[in-house]
Amino acid sequence: MENNVVIITGASSGIGQATAKALAIKGFKLMLAARREERLQQLKTEIEELGAEVSYKVTDVTSRSDMEALAKATIDTYGKIDILINNAGVMPLSFMNKLKVEEWDLMIDVNIKGVLYGINAVYKHMEERNEGHIINISSVAGHEIMPSSAVYSATKYAVRVITEGLRKEMRPDQNIRTTIISPGAVATELTNTISDQDVLTMFSQQNGLELMSGDDIARAILYAIEQPTSVSINEIIVRPTSQM
Ligand code: NDP
Repeated sequence: MENNVVIITGASSGIGQATAKALAIKGFKLMLAARREERLQQLKTEIEELGAEVSYKVTDVTSRSDMEALAKATIDTYGKIDILINNAGVMPLSFMNKLKVEEWDLMIDVNIKGVLYGINAVYKHMEERNEGHIINISSVAGHEIMPSSAVYSATKYAVRVITEGLRKEMRPDQNIRTTIISPGAVATELTNTISDQDVLTMFSQQNGLELMSGDDIARAILYAIEQPTSVSINEIIVRPTSQM
């Protein structure tokens, strides 16, 4: 796996940041992407201290041209892309009757279009090289719906369907693997964008749920990557043991 080149979107916090560090320790070459440059710069410094090769590119995944520029910068820097981790995501949960249309649009743009633009940006390169691995971060919410998660769940269902659709269209000789990672509750900044007070109240009344850490998801991602290239881990669901 050493020298494998990985793009991670949403690397500026949470699962993406933890995954970047876990892969750095294993010797992967990293291209970090997100919008907050100071976070990326800080992570780059920390990863360099671990002895790994790392670059970053400020990227908005909702911009097709940004995603294409990210892929180009990766090839210019390292000569190839082995793995794309489409991890960037937002989760402004709200009850449907609040009609938070801008937040619906945002989830569709980041969670669905961002993933599609990522696939678009790396596909031809992987096809030409006859190898690659596209890892898309869905969610347990892509398997089940709870009150307030209708649109978020729809986007995460879409991530699963897109990933599986891509897999089914691959020819056996293409050697392009796809993996869906579906985490349960992880302690990250993801809930910071929730503006619906009723959802925040609902969450504050839940107790007994021990959240996972980003490292717990990073290990699942690493497991999928580290299989022999003849083995494709198509989906991993990871929940806290206490999550029903
Ligand atoms: P965080 O909020 O900690 O991280 C989200 C990341 O996405 C940030 O790095 C953020 O970077 C990036 N991001 C958001 N919008 C954009 C954009 N337009 N362009 C580029 N980057 C963007 O949350 P998590 O680490 O928890 O989330 C990572 C993934 O895991 C998401 O897809 C989420 O849906 C999924 N997930 C999380 C779960 C959880 O419980 N935490 C459970 C199941 C799935 P920046 O703001 O700098 O651009």
